Amino acid sequence: MVPVTCLFGGTFNPPHQGHIGAALHTLSELGFDRLGLMPCKIPPHKSTAGISEHHRVEMVKRVCEVDSRLYPELVELSLPEPSYTVKTLQAIRQQQADEPLCFFMGEDSWQSLTAWFEWPELLKLAHLVVMRRPAGHRSQTAAEPVLSSELTRLKQLHQVESPIQLTTRPSGQIYFTQSPLFDVSSTQLRQALATPDNDSSAINVDDWLSPAVIHYIREKRLYV
Ligand code: ATP
Repeated sequence: MVPVTCLFGGTFNPPHQGHIGAALHTLSELGFDRLGLMPCKIPPHKSTAGISEHHRVEMVKRVCEVDSRLYPELVELSLPEPSYTVKTLQAIRQQQADEPLCFFMGEDSWQSLTAWFEWPELLKLAHLVVMRRPAGHRSQTAAEPVLSSELTRLKQLHQVESPIQLTTRPSGQIYFTQSPLFDVSSTQLRQALATPDNDSSAINVDDWLSPAVIHYIREKRLYV
């Protein structure tokens, strides 16, 4: 089997079962072994809720400690600012010549792809693996659910139907997963953590955060 590097970038503020459940289902759908969770610098349009990079990294490390398929990939945090996925993937490419590289993203990220810095370069560096995500979790920059003509064309040109095709080239293909839907976001969890006595909160943090992450959040008094 050709070695394949799989990476999943996110703010992970905090990392939740939507990230991990979708990513692990995807990993097994693809038939690959390991996935690097890659905390990103927080883009200016996103709320940090006062949470430092250090805390996001610590939470990601705790998620990885309990599942040997996951490891923290911290490369983006060590690169010069401003930080962009394309620059991060270029840095990773320099270390590994021609191995297939799969970059995982949720459907909302896919829908906003053409707003990403130098987005046409991404497919020269990696394959994109797009995980299903319920509508309603669109990022603030996301386009309408109807795909733009640019994305429709990109899909026509680069979509592959079988994961095995991702192993035949280092980059340039897009695979849409069959992963189950996980109806949760970090925003909802930050809100629920900030208002623990609010019974009307639609979301139960225990359902969506791992015990180790909850322990860390409580110990450090995050999101209060
Ligand atoms: P926020 O609510 O703060 O915007 P988020 O829950 O969307 O956060 P991020 O860390 O910003 O999480 O997302 C990182 C990546 O994970 C993105 O590509 C996003 O689409 C994907 N993702 C996040 N949650 C899910 C989910 N429930 N299902 C599938 N993909 C997800």
